[in-house]
Amino acid sequence: MRLTEVAQNWLKSSLMEGDVVIDATLGNGFDALFLAEHIGDSGHLYGFDIQVEAINQSKQLLSSKHCKQTFFLHGHQHMEIMMPLSSKGKVKAIMFNLGWLPGSDKRIITDAATTIAALEQSIMFLAQGGKLSVMVYPGHDGGETEAMQVIQGLTQTCSQPKNSLSFEKIVVLHRPTAPVLLQVEKLVKDV
Ligand code: SAH
Repeated sequence: MRLTEVAQNWLKSSLMEGDVVIDATLGNGFDALFLAEHIGDSGHLYGFDIQVEAINQSKQLLSSKHCKQTFFLHGHQHMEIMMPLSSKGKVKAIMFNLGWLPGSDKRIITDAATTIAALEQSIMFLAQGGKLSVMVYPGHDGGETEAMQVIQGLTQTCSQPKNSLSFEKIVVLHRPTAPVLLQVEKLVKDV
């Protein structure tokens, strides 16, 4: 099974009709489509990407889905100012898929510093029982450093006592450059 499917299966088990979800790196929109398929017509999908092509392609892919859809042509590091305040503590699933947009300009890639900022903000938006998945690709140029920094950043955030989070790192063994899946679940409601 591909690691992206592992992430989707893990998220799927807690998604319900009416849920609020975020795709933090829309890309071709496949994760957004997956999310839209599990939140019914009354759910709300938010999507971020810094490339117009990614926004357009995702909108097209999701055109037959009836959930509410809001697309931001903004970096995910601006999540806190772009998302409605009322959605803090209400989001059931947030997906990150790092690296570049397949079939597009490989110079436009995610960056460890902004990714870490976005992950910290994401945690504030998670509901109790909400889940965050991050696909990291150590195999490409600069990917290894990004992977290391993101894992370090997330480990630090998850170990803060005010965040009651479970953190798992799933690695594909025997292939050092293979993608890594990070999974975070918020166990307790924010106080
Ligand atoms: N999830 C996608 C693949 C994502 S590719 C799929 O399933 O097809 C990574 C995407 O992240 C690219 O489209 C790139 O434009 C976007 N990206 C890069 N930096 C970003 C940032 N700071 N905020 C949001 N998106 C970003």
